[in-house]
Amino acid sequence: MQFQEHKISKKNEASIRPMHPTSVKGVDDMIRLGDLNEAGLLRNLLVRHKEGIIYTYTGSILVAVNPYQQLPIYTNEQVEQYTDRRLGELPPHVFALADSCFFNMRRNHKDQCCVISGESGAGKTESTKLMLQFLASISGQHSWIEQQILEANPILEAFGNAKTIRNDNSSRFGKYIDIYFNKGGAIEGARIEQYLLEKSRVCRQAPEERNYHIFYCMLLGMTPEQKKILSLGNASEYNYLTMGKCTSCEGRDDLKEYAHFRSAMKILTFTENDSWEISKLLASILHLGNVDFEATIQNNLESCDILTSTHFNMAAKLLEVKTKALDMSLTQRSFMTNREKVSKPLSSAQALDGRDAFVKAIYGRMFVWVVDKINSAIYKPPPEDTVRHSIGLLDIFGFENFKKNSFEQLCINFANEQLQQFFVRHVFKLEQEEYARENIVWKHIEFNDNQRTLDVLANKSLNILALIDEESHFPKGTDTTMMNKMNQVHGKTQIYIPPKNNHDTQFGILHFAGVVCYDSQGFLEKNRDALSSDIIQLVETSTNKLLKQIFQADLNSNVVKTTSNARIITPTNSLRQTADTKKRVPTLSGQFRQSLDSLMKTLTACQPYFIRCIKPNDFKKPMLFDRELCIRQLRYSGMMETIRIRKAGYPIRYTFEEFLERYRVLLRTSVCDPKKDYHDTMLEVERDRSIHEKALLIQKVLRGYKYRKHFLKQRGAAIV
Ligand code: ADP
Ligand code: MG
Repeated sequence: MQFQEHKISKKNEASIRPMHPTSVKGVDDMIRLGDLNEAGLLRNLLVRHKEGIIYTYTGSILVAVNPYQQLPIYTNEQVEQYTDRRLGELPPHVFALADSCFFNMRRNHKDQCCVISGESGAGKTESTKLMLQFLASISGQHSWIEQQILEANPILEAFGNAKTIRNDNSSRFGKYIDIYFNKGGAIEGARIEQYLLEKSRVCRQAPEERNYHIFYCMLLGMTPEQKKILSLGNASEYNYLTMGKCTSCEGRDDLKEYAHFRSAMKILTFTENDSWEISKLLASILHLGNVDFEATIQNNLESCDILTSTHFNMAAKLLEVKTKALDMSLTQRSFMTNREKVSKPLSSAQALDGRDAFVKAIYGRMFVWVVDKINSAIYKPPPEDTVRHSIGLLDIFGFENFKKNSFEQLCINFANEQLQQFFVRHVFKLEQEEYARENIVWKHIEFNDNQRTLDVLANKSLNILALIDEESHFPKGTDTTMMNKMNQVHGKTQIYIPPKNNHDTQFGILHFAGVVCYDSQGFLEKNRDALSSDIIQLVETSTNKLLKQIFQADLNSNVVKTTSNARIITPTNSLRQTADTKKRVPTLSGQFRQSLDSLMKTLTACQPYFIRCIKPNDFKKPMLFDRELCIRQLRYSGMMETIRIRKAGYPIRYTFEEFLERYRVLLRTSVCDPKKDYHDTMLEVERDRSIHEKALLIQKVLRGYKYRKHFLKQRGAAIV
């Protein structure tokens, strides 16, 4: 990128201020910027980006601009260089942050966490991997457990990442990895929590996007014999893999990735049999996707027939169910009337939806099972009476605002609101409250608090998520009745933007990153996330152990035994005839909220670090810096205000005891009468109630010490 050299006419010269020298050369820490405005900030990142410097601090917050090229800055030498250094001693680096986490965990005996945020493609997942790489190398001995933790990634990415238009390796789920260290600082284990995998991708992809990597990898990497048993061909033959009209991904070697995936599976103790069973289910998904339904009429009702094909037969074979049973469960829907089970034919469109729901359920549950299995390999509860500390890395989907936004985006953006509030609380609220408590003269810094959005979304009574849930449980609830309620309750808040007219299905939410319009159509169905009881019954008849295992929870909860021993089947979502409002099946948003709440609790108990990833352009290109795009990201992440507060604030914080602990040694080594000094100070300090003033007093003593040191040196005295 070239800077534009503007010729300044004489007339304008007076009104143009010269650029601060720091803006011309760039600074490591934005706090040191002379021009503290958006333009100065942007220029700093731009100047550095041009020189291939991707990391910049804002105090202890790391800003990372995606280089979109391999940089030689992650070698073992670099790891060594950054080990045991203070933050700021060396140029900014993700390793420096990882080192600081590790150091503080050990020194303060406190769990640490690192929240990595940014848009899709900004570099969150890469940053997470680099943090992990650093922690694994400094903690230890290249032990088996370290290798297992590192190798969990290729497995998670195979199942949970896909090519999108924004990112060739886009994570379609959120994750929190907690890494546990023993007293000596060696890695002892880890645990991975996953959030909200995008299941719809298994059945549908936008133009130029792909399904999950694993499908393409598997079709390229399996042996011909294996493929023959599963009756598999090339990616281009499957409906589920070709909707985006794109089966390969430039710069990705699916064959190589499959080999890596396979070896990672072995390291994570998946047996050959486990892998084979997984392949069987994946193959059954591909075959199901190619099943065709023919529309028919049955007793004057729309119905459909499955066209016999090898795909249908293979699906039944791999799922280990009878073809007849599979056929029935896909083309009919049963429900209860007056304690009698009746069934109704499905139209071909309904049958397609039902099939897709089954496929999404298989894939989603398999993903959860895989993560559980990884955890059982890498997580061991601590032996009794041992304390251990952890570093948690949060790599979660960034804020989303597409042309069309649905229920998934609402969930994702809600998570981002929570994280933003966590950030705001740490950087602005708690900080300024503490200054007020300590009576420090301080000019309040205004910041964009998103608490009100969170209140409308999830805290106030009858909040939006609660209304969606309520309506999902209500048998007669529809997307329209849900919208009506939202309009009624929130129509007057500035956070909720009601639809323009009665026919409009869109509503808006004012998020911290801007207004997002959501299309309410399909909200309830997605939130209910219910599977038809016919499908669950089908699974029950299967002899496929893995299939039954991943559906275990559904099998347990679906069937309620009555006294007469007759089985009552939970009504399905679209044909709810008998209302069962007492029994509440957890909804998707309900489950998500629960896991988010628990995440927020974990984060709150940690000392937090933040990495703000910035995407420099929309073309995945190196050395291209789109100013508009960057300024937008800097703006809504609150970077300006962050710099202001970090600059004016007091970033280093000790309790009085910690402060004494840390600096008392200086007093003792003084050849003057340190005991007296120390004692006097302590007395004086104890009398005073403000910690701030206590700290000032100690500083006074230290200053005195420095002066004495200087004085003694002049006289040639030695200081011990
Ligand atoms: P996110 O998780 O935020 O969606 P990723 O971490 O997957 O984004 O990054 C997207 C792509 O950008 C990566 O696949 C990689 O090609 C590139 N990238 C990101 N960070 C780096 C980095 N530090 N060095 C080199 N390339 C990077
Ligand atoms: Mg990612």
